[in-house]
This record gives sequence, structure tokens and C-alpha cells, in this order.
Amino acid sequence: MRPEEEDRLLGKIAHLLESGLKTQVEPFPETHIEFAKILDELRALPQEDLRAKLVIGGFTNTPYGPDQMRCLECMYYLVHRKWCDLPELAVPVEPDWWCRLWRI
Ligand code: SF4
Repeated sequence: MRPEEEDRLLGKIAHLLESGLKTQVEPFPETHIEFAKILDELRALPQEDLRAKLVIGGFTNTPYGPDQMRCLECMYYLVHRKWCDLPELAVPVEPDWWCRLWRI
């Protein structure tokens, strides 16, 4: 994806989240099995269904929880590209966003 396409997609995601899209932030996957189950759900989605990806991923456009978890500290976050490198997501994200697939 070219940088301008990534910027456009980032804006689209930001708009969906700002518009109050309700996403499944809970339950947070505590085990590998629960984590894998969410990945399975994501893989089953049509490639173009961005909204469902955000819902199932449990995206927020703010840090989350008492520890204020956010993409910036997640192992999947590519800082210089502002990109989520988890293959099942593979979307541009802001450093202060979060999703329930967050891992360190
Ligand atoms: S897995 Fe979630 S928390 Fe981690 S970088 Fe991707 S969107 Fe952000």
C-alpha cells in the first residue's frame, strides 16, 4: 500500500472510531487459545470489511484500561510507518490507539 493510501485509510478508520463505532473491547483474550479465536474470526472476514475488522479487533481511538495500554507499546506496532503489523489486522494506526490484540 502506498503512503497516500495508508493516510486515506487511517483517516477512514479515525472517522469510524470518532463516529462512535461500538467495538468489542471485551473480553480481552487472556490465553493463547482466546487470542487465536479472535484471529480466526478476523481471518473469516471479507478482505474489504474494515468496519467488522475494527469491531472484532476491539479498536479504540484512545489508550485503554488502568494501564493506559496503546499501540505505541504493542509488539505489532511499526513506529515509523504508524502501522499495525499483525497480519490479521494490517491497518494504519495512531500510537495512542489500542485494540484487544495488544501484546508486549
Ligand atoms: S495489535 Fe492492536 S494494539 Fe497492537 S498495534 Fe495492532 S492495533 Fe495497535
